[in-house]
Amino acid sequence: MLYIKKQIKGMTPYQPGKPIEEVKRELGLTTVHKMASNENPYGAPLQAKQAIEEAAADPEIYPDGYAAELRQAVAEELNVGEKQLLFGAGSDEVILMLCRAMLGPDTNTVMAVPSFSQYKHNAAIEGAEVREIPAVDGEHQLNAMLEAIDEQTRIVWVCNPNNPSGAYINDEAFVAFLDQVPENVLVVSDEAYIEYVTAKDYPDTLKLLQEYPNLLLLRTFSKAYGLASLRVGYGVSHEELIQSLDPVRPPFNVTAVAQRAATAALKDRGFIEKCREKNKTELDKMTAFCEELGLDYVPSQTNFLLIHTGVAGSVVFDEMLKKGIIIRSGEALGYPESIRVTIGTEEQNEAFRQTLSEVLEHQQ
Ligand code: PMP
Repeated sequence: MLYIKKQIKGMTPYQPGKPIEEVKRELGLTTVHKMASNENPYGAPLQAKQAIEEAAADPEIYPDGYAAELRQAVAEELNVGEKQLLFGAGSDEVILMLCRAMLGPDTNTVMAVPSFSQYKHNAAIEGAEVREIPAVDGEHQLNAMLEAIDEQTRIVWVCNPNNPSGAYINDEAFVAFLDQVPENVLVVSDEAYIEYVTAKDYPDTLKLLQEYPNLLLLRTFSKAYGLASLRVGYGVSHEELIQSLDPVRPPFNVTAVAQRAATAALKDRGFIEKCREKNKTELDKMTAFCEELGLDYVPSQTNFLLIHTGVAGSVVFDEMLKKGIIIRSGEALGYPESIRVTIGTEEQNEAFRQTLSEVLEHQQ
């Protein structure tokens, strides 16, 4: 028998949303709406698409391992030093690198549950104890999370806004939390959906970075920037911390195509603004629909909505799928009688609303 770490045995791999081509094939449908993985329904900025074509012309050359051009563009965009950035093949890989660098058998890590699955997954692979503090109404219970911290705690994960609920932590609550976390515990603020946030009291985390040496922000090009397929995300923190994490980074981990596309995407400032506005309009229509139907939901600061239908998530998922709409069942996300839907285009959202009404009617 080959030896596999005991903690990996029986673990389930990441369960992604169902791929669109698979659904089309299986159901013989021509129109399928994928509203499952919080991708940008408006695609990627045009300049990024052009950059992809150009960069794809030289596949035989390794990418720049330092990602110099992208690094400079992100540093300028955020107004931070270039050495304060750690790039990954998606922010998923930055999560993996953090766990690899900081966690091991005699350590623990604190997080909310339900939250993004990869904190627990990677921490468990490293053999760390995972302390999951139940979220209430989709919101992190920051005081309970503070209480769970002890001498062996290395990382506390805060997903803001939270996935899968869409709820956010405001400025005041986050600062009070940071004030109480010991300085030798890293606070990771996962901001995968930050571009969609419209709440005025969302914390200015880039500014907070200057005051808290134990804060690291996670950002991604997969969501609002529309580059999920290319896998590029990054961590922002203090130079000293970032440099000490860098040896864990695999060689050439971000492809040349991804680097060039992300650099170009940053230049298209109007794109993100437009997507944020459209998303807000469509999100509001979605919540109005829930209210009309008397469905409970978690107010969202993201491009997805967690809807409590009162029916098993897998049943709603299956019925919606049959009609060509891919969503996420809440079951695997910690909400058995809920669904999570990505806010799509106007057309997609209308199809979703129509179909969900029909599906729920049949369940009564
Ligand atoms: N964090 C959160 C909260 C997410 O929802 C996701 C994507 N599902 C990620 C991180 C990872 O994103 P990526 O690896 O594509 O950057």
